[in-house]
This record gives sequence, C-alpha cells and structure tokens, in this order.
Amino acid sequence: MAVVIGVLALQGDVREHLAAVEQAGGVGVPVRTREEIARVDGLIIPGGESTTVGKLLDRFGLMEQVRSLPDEGKPIFGTCTGMILLAKTIEASDQPRIGVLDIAVRRNAFGRQVDSFEEDLPVEGVEGGPVRAVFIRAPYVTDVRPGVQVLAEVDGHPVMVREGNLLAAAFHPELTDDVRVHRLFIKMIEQAKKRRKA
Ligand code: GLN
Repeated sequence: MAVVIGVLALQGDVREHLAAVEQAGGVGVPVRTREEIARVDGLIIPGGESTTVGKLLDRFGLMEQVRSLPDEGKPIFGTCTGMILLAKTIEASDQPRIGVLDIAVRRNAFGRQVDSFEEDLPVEGVEGGPVRAVFIRAPYVTDVRPGVQVLAEVDGHPVMVREGNLLAAAFHPELTDDVRVHRLFIKMIEQAKKRRKA
C-alpha cells in the first residue's frame, strides 16, 4: 500500500513537493484543514517564510494537531522554513512554531552574500553519491541535542537532521529531479506505519 503524504499548502513550493512525492512512489495530497491532515501517513512542511506559516498554523487551528503527529507514528519532514518551524529553538525569535525537534536553528544563516547556492552534498542514509542541494536564504543548525542525528553538513554546520519520526533539511530537495531524499522520508513513514500496526 502506497503511503499518503500531505504537503502543508498554506504557503511555499507545494506543487514541487507533490511532484517529488509522486515520483518517489508515494501519494501526495495538499493539506490545509484538520480533516485533510487527519488522513495522511506523514506530512511535509515546505519552504516559504517561517513567520507567516507559523502564524497561519495558529490561525487555522492546526498547530496542536501537527505537533502531535510524530507521537502518533506519522513522520514530519520540514524543508527550509519547515526545518525552522520544527525546531524547538529559533535564535533571536519568539515566532510561533511547531517546536518538536530538539535543535536550535539560525534563520538566513548563510548570510546575504550567499543568499542562495547549490552544493553536492553527501547525505547519510542516501546511497548512490551526493545529493544536489539547493539552498535559498537557508537556515542552519546551531545546536544538536542528544537523540538527534546529523545527516549532512555544510562547512561544519548541520543542514539535515533526523530525530525519530522527524526529518529536517535546510535545503530544497523538491527543486531537483533527484528524489532520493523523498524516498528516505517514504521509508521512514513505511517503518512508522508498520510500528503503528504492530
Ligand atoms: N528564510 C526563510 C525563513 O526564515 C526560509 C527560506 C526558505 O524556506 N527557502 O523562513
């Protein structure tokens, strides 16, 4: 049975994630309401602007529901803005957040000069060579607490991490044709689904 992955469709590059999910062998559905979120096996939070998306999650009454997904065996994958919203600590910010992933992040961490860049990034758990990673005003991780596994780094800064049912990347795996990172997320969901049934 294919896994159903919701892509939070409040803002950001939703369509690209839906296409990547399908190409990776999952079923992708855009989600905006509690009813839609209740039907998915896993959730992707795409890139965008994290303050806006956090406020919208609050306004639409979705924050608590999203927060409880990982404990219900429904993994979440946050990219860029999604990584920021998953983090428990956001440097110098009290913006609304999901706040379940035990890391600290710095927004726009790579600075103005390198606003956006691409890099061939080796990712732990992804076989067959490095992933072409696109960074757009990306955050990086400034603190990783016990239980969090670092899967990729740029200049010694973690840019992809996993903690249990949570996956987060500072870059945009949906913007290339390479869907190996989405496959990794699908594998996480399949394992979580099996445990849910056991
Ligand atoms: N800089 C944005 C933020 O802080 C994230 C950029 C992105 O998602 N591409 O939310």
